[in-house]
Amino acid sequence: MTQEFDYDLITLGAGSGGLSVIERAASYGQRCAVIERGDIGGTCVNVGCVPKKIMWFGANLAHTIEDARGYGYDLTNNGFDWAKLVAKREQYISNINSFYHGYMKDLGVDEIEGEASFVDPHTVAVNGRQYSARHIAIATGTAPRVPEVPGAEHAITSDGFFALEQQPSRVAIAGSGYIAVELAGVLNALGTEVTLYLRKQHVLGEFDSLLKNTLLEELAKSGIELRTESEITRIDRDSVGKISIEDNQGVGMLNLDQVIYAIGRDPDIDALKLEKAAIKISDRGYIETDLYQQTNQPHIFALGDITGRAPLTPVAVAAGRRLADRLYNNQSDRHLDYELIPTVVFSHPPIGTVGATEESARAEFGERVRIYQTRFTAMYNAISDHEVPTAMKLVCLDEEEKVIGCHLIGPAVDEMLQGFAVAMRMGARKRDFDDTVAIHPTSSEELVTMR
Ligand code: NDP
Repeated sequence: MTQEFDYDLITLGAGSGGLSVIERAASYGQRCAVIERGDIGGTCVNVGCVPKKIMWFGANLAHTIEDARGYGYDLTNNGFDWAKLVAKREQYISNINSFYHGYMKDLGVDEIEGEASFVDPHTVAVNGRQYSARHIAIATGTAPRVPEVPGAEHAITSDGFFALEQQPSRVAIAGSGYIAVELAGVLNALGTEVTLYLRKQHVLGEFDSLLKNTLLEELAKSGIELRTESEITRIDRDSVGKISIEDNQGVGMLNLDQVIYAIGRDPDIDALKLEKAAIKISDRGYIETDLYQQTNQPHIFALGDITGRAPLTPVAVAAGRRLADRLYNNQSDRHLDYELIPTVVFSHPPIGTVGATEESARAEFGERVRIYQTRFTAMYNAISDHEVPTAMKLVCLDEEEKVIGCHLIGPAVDEMLQGFAVAMRMGARKRDFDDTVAIHPTSSEELVTMR
């Protein structure tokens, strides 16, 4: 450890990426500080994965109450208390925040509250005080995008969704990605009237066609109104707070309680004054890094969403841990492999996907691609009378049928994918799937019995 600097490592941002690298660096005996302007835990803990998953569980219960009738229960749903669930959710988050504060203290990591900006390549300032470090890791994440539409200030984003203390009765959501379909499913299941504005004709544009087509059908079947090739062009709020909107087809909607934008997220880097450290950013405004998370400055690193690569919490966590292993534990080649990252969309029903889509595989490998797929109703849904499809696709390559893509939609696939992703990372072929004895009766057994 050099005494030349205040710290060995300073991390800008106490979200998934920042906390992971700092935690591991501290465990290797480094002197560390983490700077955060918001709540510890960042987007995932406070306004992302964690509160979303709790709302998703709540929404699933609404379906379960319905399903129970098919199993012979005589249940009456006497109402849903949004404020109660939100209060319990926020308490849960507050416990995570407290845990992290205590954990940082136990590790000897200094927490510095405020907004950091570079002073020079080894120094940052926070609230007028300067701190220097041998290494600096930037993990400040991204912020929800809001388009330049007249009246956009009347709309909210996922941040605003998690601040809602009352359940909205009528909502329009603009967007077609993870957040749009997740929030649409949650709100709809909990009884809010939802209209989804898709600027094209699909949801989840980059996903395998089996997943996006099946989900689109299910969104419509569940009662969500889909407005395709439709973009909101104007938003107004009246004196009693009701919102009206107009779209590019000249069609309007009145009496909305909320308009939610879920159209992507952007880096929010102006305050960092990256120019003081001569850190390079890409045309799209992300911090450029190599495979080792290193920026153009050899002692400055970037992690997570701010790099514009696979903006998912576990990716930031994995990259952070590997960076600390490399810098402080002599694992000189340790870095994250960005191939075959499994991901789940907590839609209704959920989606699990890893590897090449059929479309991308065919574009790259043509006739060498072999597809196996199935569609069925899971036993649980057959009895519940709640018609939910399960659909699965394996994308395989060449005679040996190496499995290069696995795409799942249906109840429980969110918990099904992880193990199959391990097999694929190990190079599993279709034959290895088939040689694994099925677990019966489950939905996952279909993945090892596909013909
Ligand atoms: P996404 O990038 O997933 O999707 C946004 C999509 O909205 C675009 O791809 C585009 O699709 C559409 N869009 C863009 N601009 C407009 C517009 N002006 N009007 C209407 N539609 C528009 O962004 P999200 O905000 O949903 O999520 C950000 C990221 O956060 C995700 O990519 C994901 O990595 C992460 N995340 C992960 C979750 C998980 O792991 N479960 C949950 C939530 C977020 P098109 O043009 O094809 O219509």
